[in-house]
Amino acid sequence: AKNSIEKEIEFFSKHMEKEVVMNVQMEDALKKALKNQEFFLMFQPQYKTDGKHLRGFEVLLRWHSSELGTVSPAKFIPEAEKTGLIKEIGEWVIRKAIKRFNDLEKYFDKKLVLSINISVVQLTEPGFLEQVKDIIDSEGLNGFRLEFEITESHFISDQEHVIDVLYKLKDLGINIALDDFGTGYASLSHLQHIPLDILKIDKSFIDLIANNSNKEKMMVVPLIEMSHQWGIEVVAEGVETIDQLHYLEDHNCDYLQGFLFNKPLTEAQIIESF
Ligand code: C2E
Ligand code: CA
Ligand code: CA
Ligand code: CA
Repeated sequence: AKNSIEKEIEFFSKHMEKEVVMNVQMEDALKKALKNQEFFLMFQPQYKTDGKHLRGFEVLLRWHSSELGTVSPAKFIPEAEKTGLIKEIGEWVIRKAIKRFNDLEKYFDKKLVLSINISVVQLTEPGFLEQVKDIIDSEGLNGFRLEFEITESHFISDQEHVIDVLYKLKDLGINIALDDFGTGYASLSHLQHIPLDILKIDKSFIDLIANNSNKEKMMVVPLIEMSHQWGIEVVAEGVETIDQLHYLEDHNCDYLQGFLFNKPLTEAQIIESF
């Protein structure tokens, strides 16, 4: 009979094999996804903290793979980053989102923000700025402002180059938002060196507000205050409860996004509900 260590090894090697097969499959499937038009976009509203005034929408990528079924972006984006496919996929997202929004904006009577997630892998790719310029030139931006959300956990490597690219994006009139703040390494003092318009506080921090402990609740307060001192506005992501809304309102958070208001919406749902 096999001893427990042998069993464990067997378990892990089977498990790992599966992972590897899965990744190869996913890479293959990702390569086909663009060609076969398996990607589509959804849009999640962001509101002023009064909960009434719409600020704009965050674009979220969706994938129904013919081979793998529905795959979450939390799974396939890292794979796209590893394989370099993020370059093409990311370009598709920017162009498609702008196209869609050029059609959608006529349903709104004020200038909204269209916020797109950009991987640091894209950002450090040579030619990225040109790519963005080309898309804006050919598609145009009809009555909305573009914002790029960049996740802080990937920020630290190659920081000088990244910051340089961010300044150039700002020159193109694009807002810069630091995404998932609180989950990575960036400290508040980092923020001074990055040309930021928006800080997005990660859901894991917003979840703490539901906590009974005052100490944990208060974690978000200095983030908001420091950001404001530096002229940076704050978006809370993953707001799910009225209590969170009230707490964030009391502490002057600027904008809110979350299931309390809307899940990510299709274009048809947007046209229906606004
Ligand atoms: P993220 O940028 O932090 O996006 C927010 C995620 O939280 C989205 O998940 C959204 O559907 C979800 N969410 C929003 N409000 C709530 C809430 O109140 N409660 C809960 N439980 N969840 C909420 P999604 O769409 O699955 O995206 C996951 C991640 O995948 C995103 O996290 C982002 O990092 C990445 N991603 C999505 N689309 C793109 C894209 O086009 N490009 C890149 N580079 N990354 C993307
Ligand atoms: Ca309009
Ligand atoms: Ca985001
Ligand atoms: Ca997040």
